[in-house]
Amino acid sequence: MERRTFMSAVVVAGASLGLAACADPVRGAAKAAGMAAPSPSVPPSAAPSPSPSPPPVTPSPPPAPAPPTVTKVRLPPGVLTGLPTTEPVLAWTVDDGSDSEVVRLYADFARTSGTRLTFFLNGCYPGWTDHAELLKPLVASGQVQLGNHTWSHADLTRLGDADIVAELQRNHDFIVSTFGVDPRPYYRPPYGYRNARTDAAAASIGYTSPVMWYGSLADSGLRTDQEILDLAHQWFLPAHIVIGHLNHLPVTRVFPQLRQLVADRGLTAVTLDDVFSR
Ligand SMILES: [Zn+2]
Repeated sequence: MERRTFMSAVVVAGASLGLAACADPVRGAAKAAGMAAPSPSVPPSAAPSPSPSPPPVTPSPPPAPAPPTVTKVRLPPGVLTGLPTTEPVLAWTVDDGSDSEVVRLYADFARTSGTRLTFFLNGCYPGWTDHAELLKPLVASGQVQLGNHTWSHADLTRLGDADIVAELQRNHDFIVSTFGVDPRPYYRPPYGYRNARTDAAAASIGYTSPVMWYGSLADSGLRTDQEILDLAHQWFLPAHIVIGHLNHLPVTRVFPQLRQLVADRGLTAVTLDDVFSR
C-alpha cells in the first residue's frame, strides 16, 4: 500500500480528535464505582390503563445472517492496517460510543441490514450498558464483533505501563461481564497513538493486535452527512479497514447510502473474526 495514501488517512483521522474524554478514567474508578444511569421517570399518563388492550405485537427479529464465505487467513503478528486478503471484503469498524442514541441506531442498523461490524468500544460511555440487550444477540451470533478501545479513551503513550494495563483490563472486564465475549487479541489504541512500549504493555495481557486503519469517515467530531458520504466513497475499498465513530448522529442518517455503496462496489462488510483465524 502506498505510504502517502496511508499517511493521508492518518491525517484525516487525526484532524478530528476533538473527542470529549470520558468523565470516568481508570484512576477515578473507585469514585465512579457507584455511578449509575438515572432511571427514567414514568409520567402519570404512562400508568396502565384499566381497559384491556391487545398484547403488543413484537416483530420477530430477522434471522442472524450467515457468516460470509471468506477464506480465512492466519492473523499476522503485530499491527494491522488492512486485511491481507484479495477478497472483496471491507472491515467497517466503529469506535467510542459517546452518544448513546448513536450506539442504539448503529446496533439497529446492524440488526435490520445484516451488516457485519466491529465496535471498538469505551465502556465508560453509558450507551454500551443502555443498549446491551439490543447488542447481545448480534454479538452472540458473531455479526457484531467487539474490540477493546480502553475504558476511558486514554492516550496510551502518555500513561505508564501499569495504567495502560489498567485501562485495557477494566474495559476487557466490562466487555466480558456485559456481553460474554473475549475481545482479545484485538484492541485499538485511542487516536491511533501507540509505540513499541504501549504495544508491549498491551501484549502482556493478551492484547497483541493493535488495529489501525486505512481510511476514515472522520466522524469522531461532528461532520456533515455529505462529508461522511464523500469519505466513504474515498475509503470503502477492498481489503480496507475503515474507521468510523458512534459519537454523532449524521452517520446514522446516511446508513442507506453507505449500505448501497458497499453493495454497488461488490464489497462484503466483515468482522475481523470473519477474516482471521486465531
Ligand atoms: Zn476512539
